[in-house]
Amino acid sequence: MEHLPRIAVIGAGMAGIACARHLQTLGLRPIVFEKSRGIGGRLATRRTASSLSFDHGAQYFTAKSAEFRTFIDACGPETISAWRPRGGGEHALGGDWLVSLPGMNGFLKQAAEGLDVRTETTVRSIERFKDGWRLDFDGSAGDDLFDFVIVTAPAPQATALTPFSPHLQKSLASIRMAPCWALMLALKTSPEIGPDVLRQPSPDIAWLARNSGKPGRSCADETWVAHADPAWSQDNLELEKDAVLLHLVTAALACLGSEGSEVMYSDVHRWRFAKVEQPLGEPFLRDETGTVFVCGDGCLGPRVESAYLSGLAAAAVIGRLEL
Ligand SMILES: Cc1cc2nc3c(=O)[nH]c(=O)nc-3n(C[C@H](O)[C@H](O)[C@H](O)COP(=O)(O)OP(=O)(O)OC[C@H]3O[C@@H](n4cnc5c(N)ncnc54)[C@H](O)[C@@H]3O)c2cc1C
Repeated sequence: MEHLPRIAVIGAGMAGIACARHLQTLGLRPIVFEKSRGIGGRLATRRTASSLSFDHGAQYFTAKSAEFRTFIDACGPETISAWRPRGGGEHALGGDWLVSLPGMNGFLKQAAEGLDVRTETTVRSIERFKDGWRLDFDGSAGDDLFDFVIVTAPAPQATALTPFSPHLQKSLASIRMAPCWALMLALKTSPEIGPDVLRQPSPDIAWLARNSGKPGRSCADETWVAHADPAWSQDNLELEKDAVLLHLVTAALACLGSEGSEVMYSDVHRWRFAKVEQPLGEPFLRDETGTVFVCGDGCLGPRVESAYLSGLAAAAVIGRLEL
């Protein structure tokens, strides 16, 4: 290859940013295409007009591998902090619970500095031409051809982008993901309840945590995030948003013993592909040409760290190719 290989990364979540950053350290210049307005994917924080904030996706992450630990340590205390929930204790298992500041995507925004990230750019399809891959965006074909394409969208979306590869289709079909309805709730007064984290406090709620108790969040507000149980989320995936909101607010208030409390703000977000239930068990996938990669948490497991390791592994392989 006489020119620098042209590389497209689809998705600016943990896997996409890990991959693009590593490629950049190898002297390559990937372009990252992200359909949302911002960076982070499922590492997400909602900010409201009244300045409330809610981490409605990933709640925290751990760093068990040397690679992820090194990356996290380099981010520094301004963007990463340990979360020790009041009345918790479970944080001691498997290492510190880590959160990013000021929102869950803070460290990814920092890591993406200097990368060519094109937000609000949805890739609709990937097409093979003689001299490379062409990406098609909303209603328009891109001008550029790419030698490598790395897809980091959740497995079902990666499947839709790669119909040209029977191998990818077959392997991606083995990855199973569960949806999650997330509730964001702000109360006027603190609940009587002691702990900041409640696991499966009711059959329909799998996780309920005091968002305002996390480091770097405004403790003047009384904000909570609930994640509906995966089975409940699946059964009610297409339910009207208002009905989901009513059900989850009622359930969460009951869990907090705050049935009579004044609700200052409430909203729900539907994560259609939230958590990996059955991962692939390999760090990444490659199509039959060896030039389209799929990586992300679906490859290694349901965690931020797995997404990081998957993105890193794909980049390392590209870096080792004779280009
Ligand atoms: C409710 C919830 C709770 C969770 N809790 C935890 C937790 O406590 N701890 C933990 O470690 N993990 C948790 N996770 C999982 C964790 O968030 C993920 O494992 C990790 O963030 C996945 O990163 P990723 O880069 O693989 O995928 P994503 O973050 O999904 O990134 C993929 C990106 O691709 C973009 N994209 C998709 N399709 C296209 C397209 N066609 N064109 C352009 N861009 C596209 C998306 O917008 C997205 O930004 C949770 C997830 C959810 C949803």
